[in-house]
Amino acid sequence: MGHIVVLDQNMVNMIAAGEVIERPASVVKELTENSIDAGATKITVAIEDGGRKLISVSDNGSGMDAEDLGRAFEPHTTSKIRTSTDLACISTLGFRGEALASIASVARIRAVSRNKDSPGANCIEIDCGDKGKVGPCSGDYGTTIQVRDIFYKLPARRKFLRTGNTEMGHIAEQFTRIALGCCRQGEDSGEAGLDLTLIHNGKEALRLTAGQGLLERINALFPMLSANPSNDFLQARTSERGLEIRALLGKPAISRTSNKFQYVFLNGRCIRDKFISHAIREAYRGLLEPNRFGVAFLFITMPFEDYDVNVHPTKSEVRFYNANLVHSQILGTIREKLLGTNLDIEARLPAAIGLLGAEESPTDSPRGMEITDAMADFFKKHRAGHTQRQFGFGGGRRFTAERGSAATVIEVPPRQPIPKIPAERKRFLQIHDSFIVAQTDDGFIIVDQHALHERVMYEDLRNRVQEGSLESQRLLIPQSFELSDGQAALIEENAELIEKLGLDLVPFGPRTMAVQAFPSLLAKADPLDFVQDLIDLLEKREAGPDPQRLLDEVLNMAACKAAIKAGQRLTDSEMEQLLLSRDMVESASRCPHGRPTTLKFSLADLEKQFKRT
Ligand code: ADP
Ligand code: MG
Repeated sequence: MGHIVVLDQNMVNMIAAGEVIERPASVVKELTENSIDAGATKITVAIEDGGRKLISVSDNGSGMDAEDLGRAFEPHTTSKIRTSTDLACISTLGFRGEALASIASVARIRAVSRNKDSPGANCIEIDCGDKGKVGPCSGDYGTTIQVRDIFYKLPARRKFLRTGNTEMGHIAEQFTRIALGCCRQGEDSGEAGLDLTLIHNGKEALRLTAGQGLLERINALFPMLSANPSNDFLQARTSERGLEIRALLGKPAISRTSNKFQYVFLNGRCIRDKFISHAIREAYRGLLEPNRFGVAFLFITMPFEDYDVNVHPTKSEVRFYNANLVHSQILGTIREKLLGTNLDIEARLPAAIGLLGAEESPTDSPRGMEITDAMADFFKKHRAGHTQRQFGFGGGRRFTAERGSAATVIEVPPRQPIPKIPAERKRFLQIHDSFIVAQTDDGFIIVDQHALHERVMYEDLRNRVQEGSLESQRLLIPQSFELSDGQAALIEENAELIEKLGLDLVPFGPRTMAVQAFPSLLAKADPLDFVQDLIDLLEKREAGPDPQRLLDEVLNMAACKAAIKAGQRLTDSEMEQLLLSRDMVESASRCPHGRPTTLKFSLADLEKQFKRT
């Protein structure tokens, strides 16, 4: 006798539910997606105990008549597709026809719905697949689905639910995706379309009104992200070959330690895509330190037939037919915007300098706090040995502030306007052989000499390589080095790159090569040291040829080696040169590694700190 049996339908549904319904947040996702597909303009999500007790979603969408209501909870029932042609061009969020059946197989359901044609509302109750009859009841146009005691007949799965608060966190995340996804019109259209309310344990947790712009909505959803969204975000938009990209990009100053704040929406659907994450990371390269992630909200609009959503049970991954186009356009859109923007860090003077006993400096964002702390540290460290100072403005109030054993005497000048200094009398000063303090029209800047020079070198190298005008110099005596066969093969493989760099490497005996010519621009660097690092880079490089990226890495490395170091004393003309080149290079406010090159302080801030205003 055979051992194989056909599973009954409820078992099939429960198994399907294992894929689609992982936790209460999955129910929220499926139900709200259905509401959006039904054309709702208002959705209310009410949760009790993180969804363990109740998940209720009400909408004012098209609703269902009695017949559809009875059918909606059967497996593989959908109004969204009919034929395989439809499957190739899906414009709705749902299409698999399994969400309601899955949910109904693992919880107690009560659904009430009414459409424009039915005289009244109808209702159905289902208890873990055990379906009651559809009957009339009272209710508004639209649909309300209540899901209670999720997994109560599946103790093994119920056990995996976390505390109410944790589950609520997941629900809030789903809610956020829905709230942003329907915001794809972007800020300037001022149209968010959907009025959304989230209620937890009877209290309103979030209310998003229909007319909100994107920035406003982001601010309501993530108040901790930015204290000043209109300053911290950049907007970009491109449209090419049917692919439209709208991006809201956080400036590097509000970067994060994870990519949690990178949201990607494809025709309103929130997706996760490795290719796109990679494009975002690449776009922020050099503007962020390696362990930081840009904040980015991307809204992609493209023809439905250009990608396949039917690759993942929760439809959170898609397959693009032209992934390269998507990657390159996203990268280009973001990169161009970021590089075309002045990203200087506006630093605020820390109260910690406050020998004057200033009250707490107003640090209204976590980032502001970081800068303040960093600056406080900087001034603390660099104040050692400068404990006794007199500023002879004369005529003012004088007092002493005790700092350990050393007394600092400071004269406070009488209030008078600070005279404007003509632009030609620009002033600068090198401190600790590492930083340059320079006066600007409306304040001053502190430049990290190594970081800035590195950036300048990088831009210069990149331009020259692109134009093919990187000069090289023959070495009087070729410098030889040993290498393995594998390394020799790598050098051969990358001959084109090596030539572009103005390097001439020639065989010089068994497992030995020599540097015969070296780029003049890198004169400060040691040729052998440079070649060694180049080989390391070639060996380390990730699989998959990406010549542009490799070149970029090599240029970063070269720029770092050839740049002025911290601790190097500079002449006035060298400093002047460096400050001048600052204005000329693209994105000079960041070194190629993403550290800032410049901190900016405004006169207004100084005046405030010194209580002049
Ligand atoms: P899918 O969304 O993939 O079609 P579901 O199981 O989620 O499958 O829903 C089945 C059907 O029930 C939908 O196709 C739709 O016709 C109907 N339906 C579900 N939710 C709603 C709703 N909130 N308003 C109107 N109709 C709905
Ligand atoms: Mg659905």
